[in-house]
Amino acid sequence: MSVPEGVSTETRVVRLNGGGDAWRVDADICVVGSGAAGMSAALQAARLGRKVVLIDGLPALGGQAVNSIIGTFCGLYSNGPNGYRFTHGVVDKLLADLGARPRTLFYDRKHTVVVFYDEIALSRWIEEEVRKAGITVIVGAVLRRVVVEGRRVQELEIATRYGDVKVRATGYVDASGDAALTWQAGFECREPDVGTVYGTQMVVLENIDESHYPPREEITARMREKGDEYGLFRRECFPFLIPGRGIVALNMTHIETPLDPLKVSAIGLTGKNEADKAVDFLKKEFPRCFGDATVRAYGLPGIRQTRWIVGKQQLTLKDVQAGTRFADAIGRTAWPVELHDHATGHVWQTFDEDHVHYIPLGAMIPREADNLVAAGRCIDGDKAALSSVRVMGPCMAEGMAAAHALDLAGTGSVQQIDLAALAERVRDNVERRDPD
Ligand SMILES: Cc1cc2nc3c(=O)[nH]c(=O)nc-3n(C[C@H](O)[C@H](O)[C@H](O)COP(=O)(O)OP(=O)(O)OC[C@H]3O[C@@H](n4cnc5c(N)ncnc54)[C@H](O)[C@@H]3O)c2cc1C
Repeated sequence: MSVPEGVSTETRVVRLNGGGDAWRVDADICVVGSGAAGMSAALQAARLGRKVVLIDGLPALGGQAVNSIIGTFCGLYSNGPNGYRFTHGVVDKLLADLGARPRTLFYDRKHTVVVFYDEIALSRWIEEEVRKAGITVIVGAVLRRVVVEGRRVQELEIATRYGDVKVRATGYVDASGDAALTWQAGFECREPDVGTVYGTQMVVLENIDESHYPPREEITARMREKGDEYGLFRRECFPFLIPGRGIVALNMTHIETPLDPLKVSAIGLTGKNEADKAVDFLKKEFPRCFGDATVRAYGLPGIRQTRWIVGKQQLTLKDVQAGTRFADAIGRTAWPVELHDHATGHVWQTFDEDHVHYIPLGAMIPREADNLVAAGRCIDGDKAALSSVRVMGPCMAEGMAAAHALDLAGTGSVQQIDLAALAERVRDNVERRDPD
């Protein structure tokens, strides 16, 4: 048989000689982690005219917001059904762009305003914004080594399936969720002293009958009553349903998320098994709504609190409860203390309608570093305080503030930036109170 015209059958023989040279990337600001915090940091840094590189160990952007299918933006609004929005900047464009698409956002207005989102639309929004901003992206890129001189991170060594990459930047954002950059730099970190903070295996069901959707409290009451029959571990159900789509994201499991590569991989499998049992429970106990339901997707295991930085300052539960207004406040929320510290349920302590608690920049700056700022679920707080500021509204405010702090620091230290200049830049996220 002849070869079609224009088709080449030639090949070449190649061999890896030695270790192969690492690719090299230079930037002003390097962000590790592309979840709610990291994507906000990268987009804000690009808006400030900085050359940005954004790294993520997953092969896709969006962190847990996209890949664990979290499903709602919490902590974005003050309490009450008509609260005002706390976080602006990057979030203004995010909500405007997604809100312009049909059935992509849904505002649930009860004790506060929670914004339900379609994770596929969010994923594409992040990718497009990052592309348009000219940010260099390295995905499937796991941090392997951090080169530190004195109090400054000098270089990151990254492993990818296509070879190693070395990244040098003036400033770094640790938005890894697990303080991976701070940890590998050899700076001090915190972990829960006793017990664990549970994560969750999210699952998305399709073909549900929304007209027979049972109240969440009824599902939870039935789980408490009959959970043993189905082998359920957790006894709570948090469903995220964007009306009119016949799809619901379910938060019904509690899984451990240890910082141990073998254990956490094994738990990834048992977590899905737990989610399957929860689905079986729903189908049998609420057949009118869930009888025909099928699993459309499992998220990657959702991780809440594992390891975080030791900051210049630690946010405490007392600060959260008192609504302490710090001189270096960069963001705020009114989200409850939401501590998943026991297998069957979680601590849930809500606040009054006029309550606001603030996040100090000091809780984002590792006290031993000059060019590193943490953002997202690995900033410094006690276990309970952190549980109330690790939801995505404040994570996005922290990401923006991290970019501003590093921009103001330039080649100097983030420990000594002009706080009045920072306050001016983050004013909307600390003070604005327009009706939404
Ligand atoms: C099950 C569950 C339900 C939740 N529900 C809600 C909710 O409804 N609403 C809400 O607002 N919040 C919710 N939260 C909290 C919220 O989702 C997270 O705290 C938030 O998304 C954290 O964002 P982040 O950017 O800090 O981290 P992440 O989204 O975890 O992003 C960190 C990124 O860093 C990358 N990374 C980590 N280590 C490395 C490394 N060594 N090298 C390279 N990359 C690395 C990861 O791949 C990841 O993409 C929930 C959390 C869980 C677990």
